[in-house]
Amino acid sequence: MTIKTIPHFLNGEETSGLGEKTQPVFNPATGEQTGALCLADRQDLETAVAAAKKASESWGDISLAKRTAVLFKFRELVATHKGELAAIITAEHGKVLSDAKGEVERGLDVVEFACGIPQLLKGEYSDQASTGIDVFSFRQPVGVVVGITPFNFPVMVPLWMAPMAIATGNTFILKPSHKVPSAALMLADLWRQAGLPEGVFQVLHGNREIISGLLTHPDVDAVSFVGSTPVAKHITEVATAHGKRVQALGGAKNHAIVLPDADLDHAADHLAAAAFGSAGQRCMAISVAVAVGDAADLLVKKVEERARAVKVKNGTEADADMGPVISPESKAFIVKTITEAEQAGAAMVVDGRDLVVPGHEKGFWVGPTVIDHVNSEMSAYTEEIFGPVLVVVRVESLEAGISLINANPYGNGTAIFTTNGAAARKFQREVQVGMVGVNVPIPVPVAYHSFGGWKASLFGDQHIYGPEGVSFYTRGKVITQRWPEPAHASGASYNFPSN
Ligand code: NAD
Repeated sequence: MTIKTIPHFLNGEETSGLGEKTQPVFNPATGEQTGALCLADRQDLETAVAAAKKASESWGDISLAKRTAVLFKFRELVATHKGELAAIITAEHGKVLSDAKGEVERGLDVVEFACGIPQLLKGEYSDQASTGIDVFSFRQPVGVVVGITPFNFPVMVPLWMAPMAIATGNTFILKPSHKVPSAALMLADLWRQAGLPEGVFQVLHGNREIISGLLTHPDVDAVSFVGSTPVAKHITEVATAHGKRVQALGGAKNHAIVLPDADLDHAADHLAAAAFGSAGQRCMAISVAVAVGDAADLLVKKVEERARAVKVKNGTEADADMGPVISPESKAFIVKTITEAEQAGAAMVVDGRDLVVPGHEKGFWVGPTVIDHVNSEMSAYTEEIFGPVLVVVRVESLEAGISLINANPYGNGTAIFTTNGAAARKFQREVQVGMVGVNVPIPVPVAYHSFGGWKASLFGDQHIYGPEGVSFYTRGKVITQRWPEPAHASGASYNFPSN
């Protein structure tokens, strides 16, 4: 197997940079090393920031018509190359091809939203706010934006950020996850083909020291981060202490409440898909089923049937439902957490710890796992497992379910399965979570609404993409304007101006 070198994309071209170190990249389905990722040194970082700063002066000034022309072309290119992008995702992440294509499509939604940027940057105007005075406001780019992204969405999460930052007139340096770095380079090439000037979109790979250099650099103005909660918190603390605007989306533990009146087949189908799709490595995956009262026994039986039917294979195979997890470390953590639940007295309904995929013995596999009678003390409940594990917590009432969710430190996504509108309405109003699904297990908002969790799932004030994304990547400016006619000069007044 040849091991490809994975470069940076700086100032309009791919480069290995000056850093001498590399980091291995693996195919999780085979366990083989496929790439050697170039790691930046300080000089590469300076090159990237200087290019971004220089490019921001002209890109921030270019007409909206020219900016949107590039965005429309980029949209076409991503759509045309969807299959290739999906193949790159599957090769480094492991998710099945159809899921990888779905990820690209959700990213495209944000590109399409960004194509409408002239409408979103129109500003506001107050005629004759005071006698002879007009007031108007508009928004300008913040400057140089850094995006730091997680392994689980190598295309979608960068597309939550870059099109919005670029459409609003900023330049963007992407630090992709070191586990899945190649898709970022294809995005860079597509931006180049779309006519984006050099330095507006760059890709820089690096270790923590380089990330820290970006977070503290005087010429970086804003940081968008998506990843785990401890890192999100750290990024927020460091970057805000250095005067940057920060939005940092963190981890999750998403609960779905199932009421006894729900259509249990519908609920079981969607719970299984939301728990085991992408091997549970989605920030909006459902990892806790909260079964209310009489729903529990039948629901567990139906979810068990579905879990046993999941086809776990190399994601390149046409009939695969689920691929591997990202790394041996991730597998070890998932297996350890399942074992702890078993030892603490939970009931193993489906156990994926010993799964072997024939022909792929060295891959990082964990099969779908369902654990019943889990309580809120067990590590299987308190930890974000980030694997194909669904735990079932049994409660007596909707109120008890809502209390359980509200006591959880995370607040990314949640769902309720019911046929009772009043119960759904109570849930959506009382639950302390940013994104809520009613009979929809993974309520990722469409691109014209913004995406964001509450509590430990988001640090910063603004959600990502959509209208809040526009706001995050721009600063408001208000102009108060008078054009006095010489004949009406009124002389100096030393009072505080009044209307
Ligand atoms: P991670 O936090 O380990 O890494 C995210 C990014 O931060 C990567 O680019 C990584 O290189 C970098 N990084 C890691 N450690 C760092 C450190 N100490 N200092 C600076 N940078 C560091 O996350 P991951 O394992 O790649 O992704 C999975 C996590 O992301 C899960 O917790 C998942 O819930 C979360 N996630 C959240 C959302 C959301 O929208 N809230 C979306 C996707 C993923």
